[in-house]
Amino acid sequence: MSTVLVLNSGSSSLKYQLVSPESGEALAVGLVEKIGEPQGILTHEVGDDETTRELPIPDHGEALRLVLGLFDEVGPSLEKAGVVAVGHRVVHGGTDYSQPTVIDDDVVAGIEALVPLAPLHNPANVTGIKVARELLDVPHVAVFDTAFFATLPEPAYTYAIDADVAKEHRIRRYGFHGTSHQYVSERVSQVLGRDDLKQIVLHLGNGASASAVTSGVAVDTSMGLTPLEGLVMGTRSGDLDPAIVFHLNRVAGLDVDQVDNLLNKQSGLKGIAGRNDMREVRSAAEAGDPAALLALAVYRHRLIKYVGAYAAVLGGIDVLTFTAGVGENSAPLRAEVVEALAFLGLAIDPAKNAVRSKEPRVVSPDGHQGPLVMVVPTNEELAIARQSMAAIA
Ligand code: AMP
Repeated sequence: MSTVLVLNSGSSSLKYQLVSPESGEALAVGLVEKIGEPQGILTHEVGDDETTRELPIPDHGEALRLVLGLFDEVGPSLEKAGVVAVGHRVVHGGTDYSQPTVIDDDVVAGIEALVPLAPLHNPANVTGIKVARELLDVPHVAVFDTAFFATLPEPAYTYAIDADVAKEHRIRRYGFHGTSHQYVSERVSQVLGRDDLKQIVLHLGNGASASAVTSGVAVDTSMGLTPLEGLVMGTRSGDLDPAIVFHLNRVAGLDVDQVDNLLNKQSGLKGIAGRNDMREVRSAAEAGDPAALLALAVYRHRLIKYVGAYAAVLGGIDVLTFTAGVGENSAPLRAEVVEALAFLGLAIDPAKNAVRSKEPRVVSPDGHQGPLVMVVPTNEELAIARQSMAAIA
């Protein structure tokens, strides 16, 4: 058996999965939280068995050492599991990395050089890569969240600002959640047995993004230079008038870091309704909370607008697919969005839409003529494992 250890390093967290790229099975799933805080938490799941540890975890090196210790102690043994590579999720690859890349010192330096483009994400990714390379003597592969969008056409990735400024500061649309959009759009093609599809994928999790994909090639996406642009998210605003930033500075007296915090952490569903979890927003809306009702309406409005825009960009639509936490689980949201898009020929079958499943599925009515609606659970870890395996082959 060959497996890949997939690592996703955040600023104070380390998520991991031991995955068999062939079968798709996750042999172990875990999360280290609150790294650097007085009390860290490590959760390690193997099947239905969960092991939890609470102790101070000063840095990512210690976090990974603890994780490797747990693999030894409660299993599965990494040696027996045949780990052939470590796959690292890296948020920003800029224009330098459009493919999964086997990591050497130059690649580490290259990812570090992209820190100005992703100051919130790339530093943690670099830290994770450095400590993992020290502790695990197998090839390490970087899989970039931006890579799938390297194919965006120039009009889709160019912002209409001074060209010299844009060039000097590498300002363009990069797009994120690429591993998910690629995995999901490929699953759609497999399930339908067609590679010539005009697809719109809605990745609706805590972060949310839309993509337009034609014949497997990404042609537009809603996130931009950073993951802030586009759809309404749990705590991020998505699209807004850039002059709001000047206004917040000049009139409200907020400095750059305060505006950054406001738009990334205190906006979106949380900003409007005080809650970033869609389940809570939905139940508050059902109880009649006006702020929650408004948050849902704004969230839906933005989605409907993007699907319409991407249908125009694609010159039509064959499949609209929902994925990630909200997209996979919220049947009411799917129904509301699809009903508003009936003019595009989209329709949803209430009984099929209500089914909960981990399998990719069509939720349009049987025999429906016209574009299909699908729900396809995303699996970024499996996609990273498979891409890592391919990169070292
Ligand atoms: P993710 O980032 O993909 O893990 O998605 C997280 C989001 O999915 C959170 O906003 C959750 O509230 C949302 N979510 C999970 N389960 C459900 C559900 N049954 N209904 C609505 N939203 C859900």
